[in-house]
Amino acid sequence: MDLLEHQAMRLFAAHQVPVPAGEVAASPSAAGAIAARLGGATVIKAQVKVGGRGKAGGVRLAATPSAAVACAAEILGMEIKGHRVREVLVASASDIVTEYYLAFLIDRSAREIIAMFSESGGMDIEQVPASSIVRTPIDPGLGPPADAFPADVAPVAAKLWDVFIASDATLVEVNPLIVDAAGRVLAVDGKVTLDDNAFFRQDFSDISTSPEDPSEARAASLGLNYVKLDGTVGIIGNGAGLVMSTLDVVAGAGARPANFLDIGGGAGAQVMADALSVVLDDPAVKSLLVNVFGGITACDAVANGIIQALDRLGDAVTRPIVVRLDGNNAAAGRAILAAAAHPMVSLVDTMDDAAARAAELGKA
Ligand code: GDP
Ligand code: MN
Repeated sequence: MDLLEHQAMRLFAAHQVPVPAGEVAASPSAAGAIAARLGGATVIKAQVKVGGRGKAGGVRLAATPSAAVACAAEILGMEIKGHRVREVLVASASDIVTEYYLAFLIDRSAREIIAMFSESGGMDIEQVPASSIVRTPIDPGLGPPADAFPADVAPVAAKLWDVFIASDATLVEVNPLIVDAAGRVLAVDGKVTLDDNAFFRQDFSDISTSPEDPSEARAASLGLNYVKLDGTVGIIGNGAGLVMSTLDVVAGAGARPANFLDIGGGAGAQVMADALSVVLDDPAVKSLLVNVFGGITACDAVANGIIQALDRLGDAVTRPIVVRLDGNNAAAGRAILAAAAHPMVSLVDTMDDAAARAAELGKA
């Protein structure tokens, strides 16, 4: 699970990482009230789980509470990389002298935890030349070695290491970690990914109280494995591997997937109806691709599930659905869908052709 910035900031503060004072607001007037309470200049920041908010206009400085109201009014409701902004963080503005980049993460190919540090923070780390990024392998029993960071950064880095270890995080990234005019080192942005497999031994009740992306929250409550992405082609498939490759073929066909949604092994009517309704609820979706490989649940059962699901959804089926069925009993499944002749459904036999069709409809 990825944390929103304000959740990351709360987690940082709980581990004595210096962060600017701030609170989250869902309306311009609430943002103004927070700015008045904080006093001085504030920074108003879109709370979405994607980077590059600054470039997208989702981070603005406000000199006064009334400017904070105006900034919040502009940022709330914005869409950044497919994510609607429902909340802003209102934080005391920092007087930035230096911007560093600092991250702890799991380097899967090297099978170790590493620290990444750069004196060229603030910009996209992908844009920073590799030569100016210092990568330091970390022995998890010892923590970061003394020479991994400059002396002024080391104490804050040690606290961020505490966050990484204590929270069972797979990523703790601070970009920028700043030095302000008073010489203080502060984390003014935070990206944290927590390891869901370790939730059983964690208590995040005080940081995960705010609503997530509404589609993700709804999917989770329905027991669906759904991740919101920033494209226009909704994806539903059975099996994580199949869904991942479906994302790839859709991208290969020149479109961008709107989500990842794995309905798992049993593709019955109810789970299909739930999946279709979660994807159709996303206003960014222009077409859907349902890619099912029949196994224990055979394609004729899946086809009947799709038809019952479409029946249940009725007028809510407002965008074209491309279906590809293969595997156990494929011919029977395709015959059922063909006979039903739903006006919004087209049946395509191969995965590549189905992706091409969905991509074409999704770009329109
Ligand atoms: P991101 O674009 O999503 O990574 O959002 P950040 O929180 O990193 O903010 C983007 C940029 O806005 C930072 O790199 C800073 O240059 C600037 N910024 C953020 N907070 C402050 C602040 O308190 N004061 C000033 N002067 N600039 C800020
Ligand atoms: Mn940043």
